[in-house]
Amino acid sequence: DNRPALAKEVNDVAEVAGYLWQKGWAERNGGNITVNITDQVDDAIRAMPAIAEPVAIGLTLPNLKGCYFYCKGTNRRMRDLARWPMDNGSIIRILDDCAHYEIIADKNVKPTSELPSHLAVHNYLIGKGSNYKASVHTHPIELVAMSHNPKFLEKDVLTNILWSMIPETKAFCPRGLGIVPYMMPSTNELAEATIKTIDDNYDVVMWEKHGVFSVGENVLEAFDMIDVLVKSAIIYMDAKCMGFEPDGMSQEQMQAISKTFNLPK
Ligand code: 13P
Ligand code: ZN
Repeated sequence: DNRPALAKEVNDVAEVAGYLWQKGWAERNGGNITVNITDQVDDAIRAMPAIAEPVAIGLTLPNLKGCYFYCKGTNRRMRDLARWPMDNGSIIRILDDCAHYEIIADKNVKPTSELPSHLAVHNYLIGKGSNYKASVHTHPIELVAMSHNPKFLEKDVLTNILWSMIPETKAFCPRGLGIVPYMMPSTNELAEATIKTIDDNYDVVMWEKHGVFSVGENVLEAFDMIDVLVKSAIIYMDAKCMGFEPDGMSQEQMQAISKTFNLPK
């Protein structure tokens, strides 16, 4: 019986949705979450009929054949999802053509407008043999603000500033923050650029002047990486507000962190 495992997944999404709202990162319907729940799906769920007509994804994603996802609903609020996850999101099944999905539960709630990015990323992760199942997109104020400065958008400039603000950031977001230049929200182009940047070995990417997109083994891990990056961004900004440029930890101090935590860089 996989139902308790599935219920836990949905409960975790609701928990994180509440955090996103409390953090001030989720104005109105801002942000979206999807989770690959295929491993939690049993025969009874597999036998469930669609409750609406198939919908084209707009992309063909060969690794997603027969996969199941919990998806936040488009235009739905995180603060509502936190309390009523199955009224503000739905469970979809990817059809055998890998180009359409159908909603199977609980209600006919249309998935997020960022579905191309979410599903393209899940397709990429499966292809890589990754055990990552969750993706979170949100609008963290300080990181979005920093993305308005072109000097922060060069590769790993922001990563190094954020890593150097407090030791934990490098330890718990060891791949740093990838950068995706501004693109129209919800587009396949944004989805393509997001996979490319994740493939450049990042778990969290900045969508310039929009928000971040994070992937992890579960929704709490995806959230935690954004949270540690934002903690560093706030420390940086607080130092600037006190009228000085923060020194940051030295390169030696950062190297020592990498050694202690066995980090790739
Ligand atoms: P949805 O309401 O469609 O999930 O969109 C919110 C968002 O943040 C788009 O980038
Ligand atoms: Zn957004």
